Amino acid sequence: MAEDQKTLREQSCAKLHEVETPKKWLKKKHEQNAEFIWKGKQDQKNSSCSSDVDDKSNVWITQNRSTGSVGDADYISWLSEHPSALSCFKEIMNAARGKSIVVFLDYDGTLSPIVSDPDRAFMSNPMRSAVQEVSRHFPTAIISGRSRSKVYEFVKLKEVLYAGSHGMDIMAPPQQANSSYAVKYQTRTIDENDQEFVTFQPAQEFLPEIEKMLKKLEKKTCQIEGVVIEDNRFCISVHYRHVKEQDYEILEKQVEKVLKEYPKFHMTRGKKVLEIRPSIKWNKGHALEYLMETLGFTSRSPKEKDDVVPLYIGDDKTDEDAFKVLKSRGAGFPIIVTSKPRETAASYSLRDPTEVLSFLIRMSRWKSAHYY
Ligand SMILES: [Mg+2]
Repeated sequence: MAEDQKTLREQSCAKLHEVETPKKWLKKKHEQNAEFIWKGKQDQKNSSCSSDVDDKSNVWITQNRSTGSVGDADYISWLSEHPSALSCFKEIMNAARGKSIVVFLDYDGTLSPIVSDPDRAFMSNPMRSAVQEVSRHFPTAIISGRSRSKVYEFVKLKEVLYAGSHGMDIMAPPQQANSSYAVKYQTRTIDENDQEFVTFQPAQEFLPEIEKMLKKLEKKTCQIEGVVIEDNRFCISVHYRHVKEQDYEILEKQVEKVLKEYPKFHMTRGKKVLEIRPSIKWNKGHALEYLMETLGFTSRSPKEKDDVVPLYIGDDKTDEDAFKVLKSRGAGFPIIVTSKPRETAASYSLRDPTEVLSFLIRMSRWKSAHYY
């Protein structure tokens, strides 16, 4: 079974990168034991995804779990289109060798587990160390739906750049002179270490309305038990993880009622959360592009574009905007974190934050092994 699954992963990676001619494979579901048998010709010598057992970070164990040993047939099938970034690690890093890697990370559900109390979505110490180590090797930014200050409170790493409010509140290095971004949204600031940085806040003008909306939402939903309204500065999250299922509809109606009074805002749905944001053309994908530019990775030619490899790991619907940007660049690695099959623009996958941790640890090890 393990060998069969390993073959699947190798084939998935080979397919994605078109290693040699496309390989044909056939799957046959065993209905009784819910296992898959994978058949087909496979030239393992030409696959870069065949060495996942040589890592010391317990990758083999997590991969066995990833590939659905409990019979998650749909997930296994989905992996053929979105192979594990751990299985394909060598292939990814070989493609990035000699190029500038830039790392973008979501926070909730990516660096921290999804928890019932949003104020307690703490990051583990091993994860913090892994992100810190990665940021020593590669420019690293965290792009979250939370307020920027809240994400920093959780992460507590000065080496990392932060974008909060789904990218509508960015802290970045001083802007490049040729920037195309609106100067009116940028503020130069000096931090406590005398370091200059720029905040970019394209939704500034919506702040007064957001404050009013927060109060109205609190008033309209206070009768519904379990609602948590989170002020994310440039957006609002209405968490309903603790709301009784029979109250979901009532809650949504109340939120929609408030939203009708604010036509410049819209609502999206996340994991047991309703997100309200200003309707401006700015999302996590734009934030990624903005950060790339401020980090000095503006591509002025196709050659320059090829020399930069952005890598984005996230689990939110809002991360799809960043995945699409990477897809349209034709360079970079969009990696979705999910334990269930999902419609996504990402090319690779990781099952959960534990696998994200393994991936980040491997990245640092790879860099140390190849460049020092
Ligand atoms: Mg998330």
